Amino acid sequence: MSTPMKHTKKNDDHRSVVMIGDTAVGGQSVPVIAGPCAVESYEQLKHVAETLVQSGVKCIRGGAFKPRTSPYSFQGMGMEGLMLLDQIRKEYNLAAVTEVMSVEQIGMAQDYVDCLQVGARNMQNFDLLKALGQQRKPVLLKRGLTATLQEFLMAAEYILAGGNNDVILCERGIRSFDTETRNVLDVGAIARLKEMTHLPVIGDPSHATGKRSLVAPAAKACVAVGADAIIVEAHPVPHESVSDADQALCLDELSQLVSDLHLVATAVGRPSTATERMDEAKRPLERRLRVAV
Ligand code: PEP
Ligand code: MN
Repeated sequence: MSTPMKHTKKNDDHRSVVMIGDTAVGGQSVPVIAGPCAVESYEQLKHVAETLVQSGVKCIRGGAFKPRTSPYSFQGMGMEGLMLLDQIRKEYNLAAVTEVMSVEQIGMAQDYVDCLQVGARNMQNFDLLKALGQQRKPVLLKRGLTATLQEFLMAAEYILAGGNNDVILCERGIRSFDTETRNVLDVGAIARLKEMTHLPVIGDPSHATGKRSLVAPAAKACVAVGADAIIVEAHPVPHESVSDADQALCLDELSQLVSDLHLVATAVGRPSTATERMDEAKRPLERRLRVAV
């Protein structure tokens, strides 16, 4: 390693736990963060939030500012979307995660959500990273499309060096030669990052695969290799999703996944939260034993 990892380097005595609202990321349990790619309406968020509450999930995701490949695609609801997230998080007692793409958007989003996401395309937006280091909301930092793990950790260093220690690293798939999946889920990177850094490492099976049918198996693989949480996209009517429709789970698939992830987490010695356990206990034993990783 040519550049020193001053703040992110693994320390044998300490693993960081980052709180998103009252959800601990990096502790014993493996929480799920779920919600639509983009905030679209109050009704949309309400349906998602109801499923989250029933499944024991305490964090909702939703983009108000969307980094779209085409300038002609839906760009997000902006301020109105942030206000909807705020309303929903209060009504359902959830913590909210949203993406910011510029320094200006940090100030706009800060009071409406519990965690700020840096998307893959902005992993090396150094001004944005520096500004996130100067404020106190936790940051969910996604790995860039072609970033090495050292570049990824150096991006995190920018935030920690500024004085904000609450950074969560997210593997969301990288570019490769194959186009059968949207990206290539680098599960090895999750395991390797956990050897390199004390920061929590989570997996995003939605952007990694880009295909609804592959989201659950990829999520299970992430938990099996040691991911500290999963962030997943879900929508009440997936095909009507204004962005990332092909990878959105429907709400039944989401509850099933939360339940299945609990089993995988338990199998690898990461018991889940009490709420999830209670929920699990209601399901027939034979279903509970059918673990497929
Ligand atoms: C997202 O979370 O909706 C998103 C745009 O993710 P990524 O930056 O990983 O593409
Ligand atoms: Mn998305």
